[in-house]
Amino acid sequence: MVKTCFLSIDVEHDRGGGERKFSGVENLDKILSILKKYSIPATLFVTGGVLERYGSLAKEWGEDFEIACHSFSHQFWNTLGQPAREKEITDYLDLYQNVFNGKPQGFRAPSHLIDQAGINLLQERGFLYDSSVVPHYPPFKKYRGFKGRAPLLPYWPSAQNYRQKGEMSLLEIPLRGQVFGFPLAGAWIGRLPFLLYKTLFEVYCPKFLTVSMHSWDILEQPKAKTSPELFLENLEKIIIMLKSKGYQFLNGQQIFQNR
Ligand SMILES: [Zn+2]
Repeated sequence: MVKTCFLSIDVEHDRGGGERKFSGVENLDKILSILKKYSIPATLFVTGGVLERYGSLAKEWGEDFEIACHSFSHQFWNTLGQPAREKEITDYLDLYQNVFNGKPQGFRAPSHLIDQAGINLLQERGFLYDSSVVPHYPPFKKYRGFKGRAPLLPYWPSAQNYRQKGEMSLLEIPLRGQVFGFPLAGAWIGRLPFLLYKTLFEVYCPKFLTVSMHSWDILEQPKAKTSPELFLENLEKIIIMLKSKGYQFLNGQQIFQNR
């Protein structure tokens, strides 16, 4: 089996309270230009809030990348009842139809907070895949999005327990974004030295891997020991390294078709 890497970006408002800002979205091209340079078919999980404000920009992204759903408002699904979740999806599908004249195929829950009722709803509403499940212990042991272990390769979930294999027709693409416990995701990409990643992959190349990040990961983070430049530099080195290790980059839609 060819080693596969699923690279994705959650495209949403900037982190932090108060008024919603979108500097990460407005600077997204800094990441996208690297992906285009290496012909990486990434998936962008875009919120309804971003699609509403940046519809024409999103259409441009859609020429090179898959645009999938990251909910409408980015409210966490553990705080929403089923009717509110249904409304989120309905509003999103309407907006997506207006912008792209089509339907999104994939979904990622805000903060990875998915559950059985949520998975069932996605299947009912015609999504082909979900990519919310964190299958391994995250670097923060109390991370709210981690609900216990799950398969490390894309799988068809059980309708009784979405963290186990079963008979559902919705594919789960788990966020297998670490090697030996070191995260290959988000701000860590700029914080950990590239040499560490290089060494880890000399020892072990998982069959399936995700590299996920947010639109705001490229913003200046005053307290973090990193910079937007370092993030982008490491991201490019990581892409080159993964390609040299024989990884094939596929977006969510392509992973679904390959199953
Ligand atoms: Zn998010």
